[in-house]
Amino acid sequence: MLESLRNIVQEVNAAKDFGEVLRLIVHLVKQVMNTGMCSVYLYSPSTNTYVLMGTDGLNPDSVGKVHLSTREGLVGLVASRAEPINLEDAETHPNFAFFPETGEQRYRSFLGAPIIHHRKVLGVLVVQQQDRRRFDESEESFLVTVSAQLAGVIAHADATGELDRLLNPREVAIHERIYPGVASAPGVAIGTVVVVAPSADLNAVPERRAVDIEAELCQFRQAMEQTKRDIRALDASMVGKLSDEERALFDVYLRMLDDHAMGGEVIGMIKEGLSAQSAWAQVVLGHVRMFKSMKDSYLRERASDVEDLGRRVLANLQQGETKRTSFPEHMVMMGEELSAASFADVPLEKVAAIVSVKGSRNSHMAILGRAIGIPTVMGAVDLPWGRLEGEEVIVDGHTGQVIVSPREELRQTYMQQIYEEKLLAADLEKLTDEPCVTADGHHLSLWVNTGLRLDSQLSLDRGAEGVGLYRTEIPFLMLDRFPSEEEQRKAYREHLEMFAPRTVTMRTLDIGGDKDLPYFPIEEANPFLGWRGIRICLDHPEIFLVQLRAMMRASEGLNNLSILLPMISNVPELESALQLIYQVYDELTEEEGYQIEMPNVGAMIEVPAAVYQIRELARRVDFLSVGTNDLTQYLLAVDRNNPRVAELYHACHPSVLRALWAIAEGARGEDTPVSVCGEMAGDPIGAVLLMALGFRVLSMSATNLLKVKAILRQVSLSEAEQLLEEVMLMPDAGLVWRHMEKALKKPEVAALFRGSSNVH
Ligand code: PEP
Ligand code: MG
Repeated sequence: MLESLRNIVQEVNAAKDFGEVLRLIVHLVKQVMNTGMCSVYLYSPSTNTYVLMGTDGLNPDSVGKVHLSTREGLVGLVASRAEPINLEDAETHPNFAFFPETGEQRYRSFLGAPIIHHRKVLGVLVVQQQDRRRFDESEESFLVTVSAQLAGVIAHADATGELDRLLNPREVAIHERIYPGVASAPGVAIGTVVVVAPSADLNAVPERRAVDIEAELCQFRQAMEQTKRDIRALDASMVGKLSDEERALFDVYLRMLDDHAMGGEVIGMIKEGLSAQSAWAQVVLGHVRMFKSMKDSYLRERASDVEDLGRRVLANLQQGETKRTSFPEHMVMMGEELSAASFADVPLEKVAAIVSVKGSRNSHMAILGRAIGIPTVMGAVDLPWGRLEGEEVIVDGHTGQVIVSPREELRQTYMQQIYEEKLLAADLEKLTDEPCVTADGHHLSLWVNTGLRLDSQLSLDRGAEGVGLYRTEIPFLMLDRFPSEEEQRKAYREHLEMFAPRTVTMRTLDIGGDKDLPYFPIEEANPFLGWRGIRICLDHPEIFLVQLRAMMRASEGLNNLSILLPMISNVPELESALQLIYQVYDELTEEEGYQIEMPNVGAMIEVPAAVYQIRELARRVDFLSVGTNDLTQYLLAVDRNNPRVAELYHACHPSVLRALWAIAEGARGEDTPVSVCGEMAGDPIGAVLLMALGFRVLSMSATNLLKVKAILRQVSLSEAEQLLEEVMLMPDAGLVWRHMEKALKKPEVAALFRGSSNVH
């Protein structure tokens, strides 16, 4: 059965569209289970019925025409109970109903499995047999397994509109499509899509039309010739290292590139107006799908050869590509997996919004979006991003929606919202030079998190009192090698000078997790639990020491540097890092004669283990800084990058609040200053809770600073403490959030809460 299932999955993956998926499923399931018929019914919200959408065994003309009400027949029963029903003699069941329009012969046995995605019944998969047959347990679980696999495909078709088109083929095409994602940086933008794709990734080539067909043809031929030369050279270099049979693969590659094979197909598509890269990627992926669907395992494995060849040609095509120089004025930067490095390819000042198919609200791309105040949507998993190049879209960073081909009324509504947000921002600017003092006179320091040059300027414009977190890895991500000590010193100096005399808290390199340096790849099954942050630095003192030297040298004469150590999970780790810091300081001051004051050194509290050892850690450092992004992820066991579990990521979860309480208590007990630099500090409700918990320094994205200030100036500390007392007794994050929102969200400040609901 496993083999059959694998075949079905392979064939379904190779299907060209959703209609074909349904045809294949019913055909293959009928064949594998050796039954009289197999059908699939899908739920149609517009008619509130289950519609027969695919069958092998019933009258094919009844597809799309048979509608069953949600309680009708055995299909309705499977759906309403959300569990499989297995009947040897269906006719005797009280829910049995006969539908002559299906051309149904009188099937006696029935096995139906619900198709469920994210707790929602999308349809029912049914097999029936004319004679009495008891489907056994393994057959039942086989059908349930196929249904579970099918559910994801149906949900995707639903999100992309394919399902709607299939269910309502006669309706005038609805052009507007709303794709859900994870709201990751507030604000709204209307702009033109520019797809940013990693190089030589066949799946990341957007569908672009050719501007000049002759030029595309010429570029394609050159890339083919170059690839042939590369393969011949590779073949020659393998003489004596590979057997003749193994080297025969290179011949196969050369033949595949021939004008009579894939090359010819691509040329045809370019002549029809597709760009060379798009045509090549489509042809290669078509062949890959075909190979993957083959029964013979040897041929199936050839799919990876085709893919490899595809990547080689694509790399050559991209080599010849001149770097794009013109960009739309309001561009929506879109891609499958955007990272900080993607900023290197586009003019930042023109980016109106960011949309990434992968990632979630606390991915580093999202944090950057917030830092520079660009509306961002992450985890828009159903977005057909490859086909959207040049399209106008609306990006709603408050709700996480990406709207393609919007209706004019909707567009107007969003234009109005953009206008109102501009007014609000202008209004908030009046608070720039005002102190952050609560209604009952308590002062809080609002600091900023930085990393890019752009967000540093923005931070100064917003009246930041210091830098609570400078993510030093961001400049590292933009390069193609480790920066030298001098390069780092210059970058750090610039930052320290910009903010002097205010403190700049520089965090030592925090790579690993989702921050992979292109020149220092780390392959791990569980990167967030693996080699990350301080662990890498201690294992590579040559990298760590250079960074520490650069930081301290940069601070000479300014003396506004603090050093922050990320991902501390035990005392020896902290002590080893401190020892290296003292070593560098002694070298610089005693041996090399620099006049530097010893910087304050702090530890990040972002791992649950550190919460339980808060006093031991606090005792050894000058300050602590809480990273609620990682702390939430590790406490709740929710990957901060995974949109599938984004709903479970709550910084207001009672366990997170209790951990924060323990941190504040522990730090107070040791008289060690403690701040918060995770995203919770930049959320209006999060900030009020943190203040009530006892934190007096909050560090956040520059864009949130004035919003948080506006809220904190309206509440009193005693009111916040009272609210905290109430929510600390509540059992779940939703209740905490709603309680806080109800208490704080007065009509005049409602706009400040837009887009902040994801912290709950
Ligand atoms: C955090 O984890 O809260 C934090 C501030 O660090 P980063 O988001 O860079 O991991
Ligand atoms: Mg962190």
